[in-house]
Amino acid sequence: MSLRETTFSPDFKPQPYWWDASPQEASGETDPPRKTDILVIGAGYTGLHAAIETARAGLHTTVIDAEAAGWGCSTRNGGQVSTSVKPSFGALRKRYGENLAIAILREGQASLDHVTDFIRTEEIDCDFSVVGRFHGAHTARHYDILARECESRHPGFETGAYMVPRSEQRLELGTEAYYGGAVFPRHASVDPGKYHAGLLRVAREAGAGVVSHCAATDITRTATGFEVTTPAGRIRAGKVILATNGYTGNLAPWHRRRVIPIGSYVIATEEIPAALMDRLFPTNRILSDTRKLVYYYRPSPDRKRVLFGGRVSLAETDPKKSGPKLHAELVRLFPELSDTRLSHSWAGTVAFSFDTLAHCGEDRGLYHAMGYCGSGVGMAGYLGARIGRCAAGLDTDPGAFGKRRYQTRPFYTGSPWFLAPSVAFFRLRDRLGI
Ligand SMILES: Cc1cc2nc3c(=O)[nH]c(=O)nc-3n(C[C@H](O)[C@H](O)[C@H](O)COP(=O)(O)OP(=O)(O)OC[C@H]3O[C@@H](n4cnc5c(N)ncnc54)[C@H](O)[C@@H]3O)c2cc1C
Repeated sequence: MSLRETTFSPDFKPQPYWWDASPQEASGETDPPRKTDILVIGAGYTGLHAAIETARAGLHTTVIDAEAAGWGCSTRNGGQVSTSVKPSFGALRKRYGENLAIAILREGQASLDHVTDFIRTEEIDCDFSVVGRFHGAHTARHYDILARECESRHPGFETGAYMVPRSEQRLELGTEAYYGGAVFPRHASVDPGKYHAGLLRVAREAGAGVVSHCAATDITRTATGFEVTTPAGRIRAGKVILATNGYTGNLAPWHRRRVIPIGSYVIATEEIPAALMDRLFPTNRILSDTRKLVYYYRPSPDRKRVLFGGRVSLAETDPKKSGPKLHAELVRLFPELSDTRLSHSWAGTVAFSFDTLAHCGEDRGLYHAMGYCGSGVGMAGYLGARIGRCAAGLDTDPGAFGKRRYQTRPFYTGSPWFLAPSVAFFRLRDRLGI
């Protein structure tokens, strides 16, 4: 039997599992207007949250997306909701000093509050649940690092986080692969497709026009603002919000030089027996580990499938090729899933930044929020809303993520030639437990 026959179920789909319940919109409103106060480019979490703010402020707001609204990361992600800040407090303090380090961490907490409050206030039915995260230590040394971080209780550290030693790990997760780990109780899970569909409804109800399949191909400054070219015609806009994240292309060369586009890959298994699910995932938490090339996984909201994501190839690849590799990693953690086949395998392009932090800001009416480094379910909406409020004139301060220089590197134009060697390097470090 070929690998393909053993790994994929007969009804396998090379597309996001979430699209089964929330299909992509075939077409939005037909044509964009000729003139708008605010033009948002990109209809993911960033763009829609920005548009809700500007539309509610009474500004004529139009959102365009090159594909179906939500086609990007916002309906492809793992549905893990966290504070989204990757560097530790120590690393941030060394780089920016104590005050900005604390401010950045507090913004991470605020992004978690923002998405939680937004989904509840707008009554979005998207399986949002504060289940907490178990973050597994892949070596004993990493357990100690996590424990020290947890004990330090520095300002900005997540309240209520605690360590789970290896002896008690089975209460969290049905694997022996970790050396214990940390629990972050405020982290949550969501169905990203349903969340995006609800967000789209709220944006339209707020008065924003959302036009799918309408790519911006050029942005030109004019005396009164901007002129943006699309296949459906030119749009004159007072202000433009760039919400293209990992899909930022030649349209915005300055931003493109600051975005490192990286593929992230996810699989969903076919349905597994309830008793097996309860044994492997007794707490229903979202899960990740301390590797540099992190694996992130969770039960599906109905607890019938396992969703497992990560980076398994040096270069970008086809989800049909990444699927079996992710499956092999899943089975290494949970040997009981060796005969379980895959129902879905997909990928999306996230945006890393050179300082591994998100960025937002403005240049004479051209706003941006991007660079969530693979962790933007909470942060994208939060920074989108912040930047939307700035564009609407309701706020002047974009917050801690707008206070650092958005770095690039000499000769970098947006194609990360260094990706394959970096992945190989981090893979080696993970294997050596460094
Ligand atoms: C596989 C995967 C798993 C992930 N898992 C998690 C997770 O579990 N937790 C977490 O916090 N984060 C996760 N993320 C990251 C998270 O999904 C993103 O950070 C977030 O969705 C970014 O939202 P966004 O609106 O900025 O970008 P996107 O949702 O990517 O939207 C950008 C949009 O811009 C559009 N666009 C680009 N260029 C143009 C143009 N010229 N004209 C018009 N439109 C254009 C694109 O079509 C796209 O729809 C994951 C991402 C991926 C890919």
